[in-house]
Amino acid sequence: MNQAATQADSNSTQRKGIAVLGATGSIGESTLDVIARHPDKYQVVALAAHRNVAKLKAQCLQFQPRFAALADADAALQLENELQAAGSATEVLSGATALDELAAHADVHSVMAAIVGAAGLSSALAAARAGKRILLANKEALVMSGPLFMREVRAGGAHLIPIDSEHNAIFQCLPPQRLSGTGAQPGVKRLLLTASGGPFLRTAAATLATVTPDQACAHPRWNMGRKISVDSATLMNKGLELIEASLLFDMPAASIEVVVHPQSIVHSLVEYVDGSVLAQLGNPDMRTPIAYGLSWPERVTAGVESLDLIRAGRLEFEAPDLQRFPCLRLAQQAAAAGDSAPAVLNAANEVAVAAFLNGKLRFVDIAALIAAVLDDHSTVPVTTLDQVLELDRWARQRAGQLLQTNLSAELRSPVLSMVNPAFNSVTGQ
Ligand code: NAD
Ligand code: MG
Repeated sequence: MNQAATQADSNSTQRKGIAVLGATGSIGESTLDVIARHPDKYQVVALAAHRNVAKLKAQCLQFQPRFAALADADAALQLENELQAAGSATEVLSGATALDELAAHADVHSVMAAIVGAAGLSSALAAARAGKRILLANKEALVMSGPLFMREVRAGGAHLIPIDSEHNAIFQCLPPQRLSGTGAQPGVKRLLLTASGGPFLRTAAATLATVTPDQACAHPRWNMGRKISVDSATLMNKGLELIEASLLFDMPAASIEVVVHPQSIVHSLVEYVDGSVLAQLGNPDMRTPIAYGLSWPERVTAGVESLDLIRAGRLEFEAPDLQRFPCLRLAQQAAAAGDSAPAVLNAANEVAVAAFLNGKLRFVDIAALIAAVLDDHSTVPVTTLDQVLELDRWARQRAGQLLQTNLSAELRSPVLSMVNPAFNSVTGQ
C-alpha cells in the first residue's frame, strides 16, 4: 500500500479527502448525501462530471471542494464563470485528463468512481496507480479491462472496495479485512449474486418488443441512472456483475450463480465449503454500500431506514429466464471465453443501450446487436491497455455500422433470431 494512503488510514482523526467522479449522477448524489452527514470525517476535495453545469454548481456551492471538473470544455467554462460570479473559490478544470489528475491528487484519500461506462476507465486507473482507496461503482471500467485493472490495483497498492450492492454484500460476507484483488478467497465454494429481475420480470416475450425507454427505466426497486436501468431491464447488468465478481473475488464464473430475488433485500450471498451461507441484507438503498466503502473497516450512519422484515414479508428466489433475457447468456458466454470477449461485450452493450434510449433500437434487439458484434470478433488474449482501448473502439464502430447500415438484414440473420426468439415472432420473419 502506498505511503499517503497508509498515513491517511492510520490517522482516523484526520478528515478523509474524497473525490467524487460522476458527482451529478445517481451514485454521485447518494455519495454526497452520506458525506454531508459526516462533515467531521469527510471532506470533498474534488467533484467531477460530464456537462451538467447547474447541478455541479449547486454541489460546489454546498460542499466547497478545492476542485471541480467537467469533461466537456464549454460546460467547464460556463461553470467557471458562474462559480466566480457566485464568489466561490473552487478551481474549475476541464477535459478527461483533468479527471485523471484529480483521481491521483495528493489531497485525495478515496475516489468514488461513479462515472457511467467506459468513460470512467482512465480516471479509475489513475486512482489505482496512485494507490488510492477506490470506491468502484463504475463496473464497466473493470469489465472492459479485466485482469489488467486488477494488476494496476495491486501494483499501485490501491484499496479496491466494490460499491455495486451485490459485490459490496459479498465483500461484507467474506472474511474481514480481505480486500478485493488479493487472491482466491479461502474456504469459499460459491458466490450467489442476486438480481431483482428488473421491470420486465413478468413481461411476456412478445410484449418486450414494444417496451419504451421510460418503461425500461422505471425500475421497481432501485432509482438509478438510465444506462444501468436499461442494463437491469435486459439483465445485462447481472451479466456485467458476474464478470465483475469473478475479477474482484478471483472466482471462476462457473462458481458464481445468478439468483433472481424480486424483493432486493438479500443483496448477495457467499457459500463456504462447510455448507455455511452468509448473506448481507438491507433495504435497497445505495447509501449503505457507499457508507461502508467510505468508512471501511468502520461503520457510519447512512440515512438508511431500518430493515423491517415483517413488512418485507416473503423473500422469493427463482432462476433467471435466459430465453427472455438473452443478454445474461451472452455475458455468461463472454465470461467463460474471457480474454477480449468482456471488453467487446461491454462496448457493444453501451452502443446498443444508447441506441435504445434514443429510440433507434428496439429493446429486444439489444441482445441481437451485441451478439452480432461478438459473432464478428475472434477472442484474443489481452495484455495491454492500448489493446483494451482498441477493442473498445472496434466494437463500438462495428455496432455503429450494424445500427446504421443494413440493420434489419443483419438482425434478421438466423443466428440472431436464435439468440432472441422474440425477434422472429415480432417481425414475422
Ligand atoms: P448516472 O447516469 O446517474 O450518472 C453518471 C455520471 O457520470 C454523471 O455524473 C455524469 O455526468 C458522469 N459522466 C458520464 N459521462 C462522463 C464523461 N464522459 N466524463 C465524465 N463524467 C461523465 O449513472 P449512475 O446510476 O450514477 O451510475 C454510475 C455508475 O455506477 C455506473 O457504472 C453504474 O453501472 C454504477 N452503479 C450504479 C448503481 C445505481 O444505483 N445507480 C448501482 C450500482 C452500480
Ligand atoms: Mg448491482
